[in-house]
Amino acid sequence: GTSTTTWVYDFSEGSKEQKDLLGGKGANLAEMTNLGLPVPPGFTITTDACRFYLEHGSTPPDLADQVTEHLTALEKAMGKTLGEPSDPLLVSVRSGAAASMPGMMETVLNVGLNDESVQGLAAQSGSDRFAWDSYRRLIQMFGKTVLDIDGEHFEHALDEAKREQGTDLDLDLDAEHLHDVVDRFKAIVREHTGRDFPQDPREQMDLAINAVFDSWNSPRAVLYRRRERIPSDAGTAVNVCSMVFGNLGPDSGTGVAFTRDPGSGEQGVYGDYLQNAQGEDVVAGIRNTVPLTELERIDAGAYRELMEIMSRLESHYRDLCDIEFTVERGKLWMLQTRVGKRTAAAAFRIATQLVDEGLIDTDEAVRRVSGDQLAQLMFPRFVSGGDATQLTQGMNASPGAAVGKAVFSSETAVQWADRGEQVVLVRRETNPDDLSGMIAAEGVLTSRGGKTSHAAVVARGMGKTCVCGAEELQVDTKNRRFTAPGGVTVEEGDVISIDGSTGRVWLGEVPVEPSAVVRYFEGEIDPDSAEADDLVRSVHRVLTHADGARRLDVRTNADTPEDSARARRFGARGIGLCRTEHMFLGDRRQLVEKLILAETDEDKQAALDALAPLQEQDFLEIFEAMDGLPVTVRLLDPPLHEFLPDLTDLSVRVAVAEAQGHPDEANLRLLAAVRRLHEQNPMLGLRGVRLGLVVKGLFAMQVRAIAQAACARKRAGGDPRPEIMIPLVGAVQELEAIREESEQVLAAVFAECGVELDVLIGTMIEVPRAALTAAEIAHSAEFFSFGTNDLTQMTWGFSRDDVEAAFFHAYLDKGIFGVSPFESLDRPGVGRLVEVATEEGRSARPDLKLGVCGEHGGDPDSVHFFHEVGLDYVSCSPFRVPVARLEAGRAAL
Ligand code: ADP
Ligand code: MG
Ligand code: MG
Repeated sequence: GTSTTTWVYDFSEGSKEQKDLLGGKGANLAEMTNLGLPVPPGFTITTDACRFYLEHGSTPPDLADQVTEHLTALEKAMGKTLGEPSDPLLVSVRSGAAASMPGMMETVLNVGLNDESVQGLAAQSGSDRFAWDSYRRLIQMFGKTVLDIDGEHFEHALDEAKREQGTDLDLDLDAEHLHDVVDRFKAIVREHTGRDFPQDPREQMDLAINAVFDSWNSPRAVLYRRRERIPSDAGTAVNVCSMVFGNLGPDSGTGVAFTRDPGSGEQGVYGDYLQNAQGEDVVAGIRNTVPLTELERIDAGAYRELMEIMSRLESHYRDLCDIEFTVERGKLWMLQTRVGKRTAAAAFRIATQLVDEGLIDTDEAVRRVSGDQLAQLMFPRFVSGGDATQLTQGMNASPGAAVGKAVFSSETAVQWADRGEQVVLVRRETNPDDLSGMIAAEGVLTSRGGKTSHAAVVARGMGKTCVCGAEELQVDTKNRRFTAPGGVTVEEGDVISIDGSTGRVWLGEVPVEPSAVVRYFEGEIDPDSAEADDLVRSVHRVLTHADGARRLDVRTNADTPEDSARARRFGARGIGLCRTEHMFLGDRRQLVEKLILAETDEDKQAALDALAPLQEQDFLEIFEAMDGLPVTVRLLDPPLHEFLPDLTDLSVRVAVAEAQGHPDEANLRLLAAVRRLHEQNPMLGLRGVRLGLVVKGLFAMQVRAIAQAACARKRAGGDPRPEIMIPLVGAVQELEAIREESEQVLAAVFAECGVELDVLIGTMIEVPRAALTAAEIAHSAEFFSFGTNDLTQMTWGFSRDDVEAAFFHAYLDKGIFGVSPFESLDRPGVGRLVEVATEEGRSARPDLKLGVCGEHGGDPDSVHFFHEVGLDYVSCSPFRVPVARLEAGRAAL
């Protein structure tokens, strides 16, 4: 065909809905342009062009022409030509992907400056200093980003120039000094690339565009995407935007702002402003900014206009927005906006505030928060006071309570964390290269930079505790220590505590207390009382609405009365998985040993008879805690050798005893049993239903204990609802055999007690064969519970206990999957089996109850899948119950 692809769009041609094509930054620049806000004109090169470039290693053949067309139009609109010597048009070349990746990719400012046009810029602006400052910034950014020169070379040269002038402030360098810096920078470029800094403006622009494309695959961008689960093939757009200048003097400046506090959600004026500077200075935390409220004093007109625009943006986007702006000689320019990242607490507060303001409805409020955010609010907090000494207070950049050993480099953070230590990363300021260290650390502490510094922005995005701008600390990364007021020195390895909600920093370990949200779930805080703060009230409102909307029930995995009771308080409507193996540990291990070693039927029965009352007591208390709600008890699942001593340990003990001339009869018999039960692949061995079929009387004992406990509860006036679940079934015949035996036991016990009780008998679906023969199995099962841990293990052929360490790293690196299938359900593979079994099971038995009890039951993304497939419930650990309730509600909305 002859149809041509449009690779380039003018800012006036797009809208905020076109993020996939124009990237978030481009789409929002277009939206603001069309709202009539003051945006410097420009155009956007699409993510399609980036994907083409990444795939073919070169730009689309017709891209250059389309860029020329748009550049010409831009030049016409601005009345200036790119890089023209007497009055140059300058542009920025800015990255911007569909998903926000703050600071991960590259931007080059002041493109179009060269040895000639710098003179023209000086003449036009009337400021030599400004022109040379802009030129040195171009060479520095271009050198680093496009030419791949280590940024330190430029920083050192700049520091040296400042030192020669006896200052450490950029602003003390005048035009002549900056001219000199430009010469040094050019020499660095020559030295490291073997060629001169490119003087041709269009070549500068084209090289910068390709560098932005390339930055999509920079290691830090790759790492960030993996962590944030952003698809790796989306690509970035490139925005070419005419420059406006915040570095023209004291009547100019640049800043960032939020329409509400991204930390707490409170309304007000939040942001940072830096006079006489270009954009990147603010985020880099290079100079200390002033609070945005100061702008009112510096430039009342610009401030007023900014406030009006911010409130317009909020009602237009119906959400918290963050923005970047520049004031050029009193004129305000908008350089970026987006729906801003926020902490978990702010997300809940803002969602309900916006409902109260009439901007969104409650359905939308539920969609605006996530289970991961709710989980963050359930972390404990520091108890104020304690023994630790407070060292200082910095800015509360990202909430949470972090305790760990101080480390001063990302490398150390990663190494120490890998060997299981908790660390707090301490830096003067962070930069994008610190990402791996920030991920590894419990929290991040910096001595410089404000709430919009790199450390703060990235930590908030990751939900990581961060205190920034703790200016009283002298951080000495070289010698791995910092000094606090009063001369206290903290060395690498010393334990510190940081509170991201208050900004406080302590030496030593501060004790923690449960979060208010957990206390609300526990029923200790009444959401309607004065004790409830607005966060608790927001969580209550959002969750109540989610509960009303969801179709999935939420149960819990619990095998103690305490966990059962807690989960019930957290909103669980029953137990989806009551494991019985934990009930065979501790003192009872000896009874299990007896059972295994028994040589006669009488011995065996005696061991079972000793276990039975203990089991009965366990169930009694759990039925009581879950009175009126279903309790799915899984009969014994793990291989028996798990209850016996380790083969090597025991062999040594036996050998030592023999060598000393006191052979131990009991141990010898035990050793023989251990040898007999030893399996090469225990997870595929004698376990689950196979145990029930081979170890006579074992499952019958458990069923009897369940039935007797139920009878006792019933007689006590309770309402027990036991369900019996058979693990690891692969063939209907296995299930039938156990079902028959269980029904006989149930009937016998109920007859003895004179009680009538309907007990469902069902199975786990965790062997792929069971999923594939679900129609047959459903004839003998009243419910299915998907055991997605084992199902994942057996579908992929991955040993759950080994693979994570052995090769998941390589698999994640190679993109075979973006997240471990044990963490989030593998929809196309394991999920397909769930679908098949659901369909076939229901067709064979329309009232079949369907649930899931693997770890995936509490994973947000998996919960959405289970909703879509049409299961009846998910079951998860008690602390995940509120998360599952929320996500089940979100899935239904
Ligand atoms: P990031 O995505 O890392 O924020 P940006 O593309 O927004 O990168 O640019 C980096 C900095 O440069 C920001 O502070 C931005 O406001 C500023 N900037 C970008 N383009 C221009 C421009 N045309 N004029 C003035 N400042 C700009
Ligand atoms: Mg930006
Ligand atoms: Mg299992």
